[in-house]
Amino acid sequence: MDLSRSALVVGGGIAGLSAALELSKHGWVVTILEARRRLGGRILSRKSRGVDFELGAEFIHGKPKIFWALLENAGFEIAEVPEKHWHPTGTGQMEQRDVWKDLEEIFQKINPDTPDETFADFIHKLKVPGNLSREAIDFVEGFNAADQHKIGVHGLTAAEEASGQIEGDRAFWLTGGYGQLINWLETALRKQKVRIIQGAVVKTIEWHPHHVTSEFMLNHRSQVVSGDAAVITLPLGVLKSETMQILPRLTEKGEAIQAMKFGNVAKVILRFRSRFWPQSHFGFIHSQDDWFPVWWSSPSEDVITGWVGGPKAERFGGENELSVQTRALESLSRIFKEPTPGLQELLVEFHYHDWRADPFSLGAYSYLPVNGLKLPQILGQPEADTLFFAGEATSADYQLGTVHGAFESGLRAAREVLSETVAGR
Ligand SMILES: Cc1cc2nc3c(=O)[nH]c(=O)nc-3n(C[C@H](O)[C@H](O)[C@H](O)COP(=O)(O)OP(=O)(O)OC[C@H]3O[C@@H](n4cnc5c(N)ncnc54)[C@H](O)[C@@H]3O)c2cc1C
Repeated sequence: MDLSRSALVVGGGIAGLSAALELSKHGWVVTILEARRRLGGRILSRKSRGVDFELGAEFIHGKPKIFWALLENAGFEIAEVPEKHWHPTGTGQMEQRDVWKDLEEIFQKINPDTPDETFADFIHKLKVPGNLSREAIDFVEGFNAADQHKIGVHGLTAAEEASGQIEGDRAFWLTGGYGQLINWLETALRKQKVRIIQGAVVKTIEWHPHHVTSEFMLNHRSQVVSGDAAVITLPLGVLKSETMQILPRLTEKGEAIQAMKFGNVAKVILRFRSRFWPQSHFGFIHSQDDWFPVWWSSPSEDVITGWVGGPKAERFGGENELSVQTRALESLSRIFKEPTPGLQELLVEFHYHDWRADPFSLGAYSYLPVNGLKLPQILGQPEADTLFFAGEATSADYQLGTVHGAFESGLRAAREVLSETVAGR
């Protein structure tokens, strides 16, 4: 008689993969239902002519203990990202400045004992010089994919504190790209005999205590699979859209899903025949450019990456790839004072993924609104020892919008399955 327990893991991003691996190592029969024809979700690595391009997650932020241990045990090579920050002076020159120092001074003025407020209200009242206020807003919107009029300062402080514990002001690359980690996890999962169904778009999850049935579409046909428990790792954007229904509905969680914010970013990666920017491995450029204010160098000499987050990124909604490419080239032209046609001539490859239009993401990542400190915990709370929740938005220690936060949330959910179901039976 087979006494093993079975779990459905909905979503094959980093959170789903880590949950599935942990459960399978403890003898659970696991089925992963993943809508795309690939695993990794918002980790999307593309290799082209020997170079790795990260269309989604790219950096490891700081040294998060558990995640870092996994990377080291798996034998991945890790390289530190140059922590140099440049600001265009307007004459085609750049000056190097430590943005963190100025920004930290501002963040330290947030008082967690006074009522929460939006970053826009906070910075307005602070009356710092205009350029510093602009830089702080750009940072908050760009890094958090957030709208300054919606993001709460208490959430920002909580994230800063969590990041401070893991040297979050340092960033690292996985040499060879994040995709390797997904491949490594997939191999480990297959060894554990985890069933992975790709192209499975989950439509409903019907549950009663200790039993879950999911209906999903695969190749235009409806199919059903059941288990004793489910770990749901869908992106907040997908949960908000209600294209996947949990039946019976979860009222408190449903409200938290709608209250939590899901922001957008636009990231472009350009490869040129040769480098035209003055310094290789320059680190980061922070400009006032309206379209792509932030640019960074990559381990590959001839590749440069552009970034915009928050409301400015919303303007890319519905734009086709060619027009995004033109915006990117124009932005580089303004920053480096190089004519656009010349840059166009030099361009070899352009990479972009529209996360906002992607039906299996519907945005980039989450952030906390005013009075939102409890939301990740509510989102991650299990239901009746049967439904468990993971994913970056559920990161209880405020590592929202990160790979390591998502990874650790998957482990947390798996351990909840293991402990709650043991206790409950
Ligand atoms: C452009 C961009 C850049 C980023 N850069 C960084 C970075 O440098 N460093 C960092 O740490 N983080 C970064 N992030 C954030 C990071 O990518 C995410 O926090 C993390 O990958 C989320 O993992 P997850 O498992 O929670 O969600 P996901 O990876 O989104 O996984 C959820 C899975 O659910 C699947 N799914 C959706 N709907 C259904 C359905 N109906 N049925 C079945 N499956 C479904 C999706 O296809 C997906 O595979 C970035 C994100 C973006 C978008």
